[in-house]
Amino acid sequence: MYTGIFDTHAHYVHAKFDSDRKWLLEKALPEGGVTHVMLAGVTLEDSAQNIALAAQYETVYPSAGIHPLYVEGLPADWEAQLYALVSRPEVPAIGEAGLDFHLEEYDAGLQETVFRTQLRMAMELDKPVILHIREATGRALEILREHRGLRGVAHCFSGSKEVARELTDLGLYLGIGGSLTFENARKVIGAVEAMPLERLVFETDAPYLPPHPYKRKNRCDSRMIAITAERAAQIRGTDAQTLIDAARENAMQLFGIA
Ligand SMILES: [Zn+2]
Repeated sequence: MYTGIFDTHAHYVHAKFDSDRKWLLEKALPEGGVTHVMLAGVTLEDSAQNIALAAQYETVYPSAGIHPLYVEGLPADWEAQLYALVSRPEVPAIGEAGLDFHLEEYDAGLQETVFRTQLRMAMELDKPVILHIREATGRALEILREHRGLRGVAHCFSGSKEVARELTDLGLYLGIGGSLTFENARKVIGAVEAMPLERLVFETDAPYLPPHPYKRKNRCDSRMIAITAERAAQIRGTDAQTLIDAARENAMQLFGIA
């Protein structure tokens, strides 16, 4: 049993939590050692729901943003609507924001516009960004390098130690989640081994990406960070509670949570 778990990336407004959301957030997660949860926003509507949900729990924080796979069909005034959400004082982070080129068809130009807009807001408001980068590392790094001083976390990091190094050199944190426990995790294991402890945060992406031995069809929740932390501890030759504590302190620093 671990204490002080900070899940830096979860989606508790997701319909998969409709039957027991209140029980989880009020009882099961705190009793399972989870002390902080950051809700990641993917659309304008979902971000507003994050804000409403987080307002009910002292340990839950909302982020607001537009995920790169949800950039099509935005309302004409999306920028103003987004700014109204991200500038709220109870919103400590912006995102998910980034680039996702894994689908067969995507509008790279539009993704980049929405990404850059969120980076600009993050710089202006001095809030960290929750980055979603998938099959777009090269381009994303070019854009991130143009934003010196940007704070943020590369969510669901699964890249090599070289990419980890590029991101942490920019001052960014790496969000390590269930994919560290997957069979094909060779690359990210190297990254977790080599990365500076000061840049480590844990996440689930709940309800997605449950760690091994849970199956993908299972629903993930923030308590499963224990499994990821145990794997990371094994890789780094330390114990899981030490990593959970360090990652929580890092996340509090990143999100400006006292
Ligand atoms: Zn997510």
